[in-house]
Amino acid sequence: MTTTASPAAPAPTPRTVLVTGGSRGIGRGIAERMAASGHRVAATYRSGGVPEGVLGVQADVTDGEQVEAAFARVEAELGPVEVLVANAGITRDTLLMRMTDEDWDAVLATNLTGAFRLARRAARPMVRARFGRLVFISSVVGQLGSAGQVNYAASKSGLVGLARSVARELGSRGITANVVAPGFVETDMTAELGEETVQKYAAQIPLGRLGAVDDVAAAVEFLASDAAGYVTGALLPVDGGLGMGH
Ligand code: NDP
Repeated sequence: MTTTASPAAPAPTPRTVLVTGGSRGIGRGIAERMAASGHRVAATYRSGGVPEGVLGVQADVTDGEQVEAAFARVEAELGPVEVLVANAGITRDTLLMRMTDEDWDAVLATNLTGAFRLARRAARPMVRARFGRLVFISSVVGQLGSAGQVNYAASKSGLVGLARSVARELGSRGITANVVAPGFVETDMTAELGEETVQKYAAQIPLGRLGAVDDVAAAVEFLASDAAGYVTGALLPVDGGLGMGH
């Protein structure tokens, strides 16, 4: 009997990766997975630390000087950023009629303006290198809408327009820009919801379970990989089917 060996997958090209919000939740999971795959990984944090084997850089994405300093440090220690994962995000949930300007501004400043600032800073060295991967962490609610999350949902759908415009501007330079839209993932952000609410969500998910951090990290790893070189401007849902149909 003869066996046909399938060709071995090529080893991933090690890249310099910067993940924002790498102290907890999804960002931490992305940093861990990318480091385990052999990439040079830096992660920003405000409080707390980052996983072992990852360069921790303290930076608040709402502060332009801190973002600049973070890039300078990563460039000095690991080289120019080739993969940017704009993950840092917050919620300030309340109904429209109760939402203050401050609730709106805080969420937009972190989730959307922060991502813009990071992408702008990352772009120039990527253009020079004629290679870059920009991955923006959005949310299923950016497309579905969500009662009580006018600010958050607007910031998350804003990322789609941001990424697709960057994809058009920089595609000819070998730079891709894609969006990952997680559904309901078990992290600190969702831990505040009661068991009843969680069960209600789970019942609407075709795959019948909440997402794990690594479900999202795997999608990010794919979009950052050589194999995804012809994927740009995509919105990749990682939501167990929760948002399908849009
Ligand atoms: P967590 O609340 O668990 O973690 C948020 C991370 O973002 C922390 O590392 C936090 O740092 C960091 N962060 C927040 N504000 C800033 C800031 N101004 N500057 C720098 N870092 C900041 O959230 P998740 O892991 O759940 O969420 C990660 C991303 O995924 C977010 O963009 C979120 O919107 C998105 N998402 C999450 C879903 C979920 O179900 N969990 C679903 C869909 C999308 P620090 O520890 O210092 O506060």
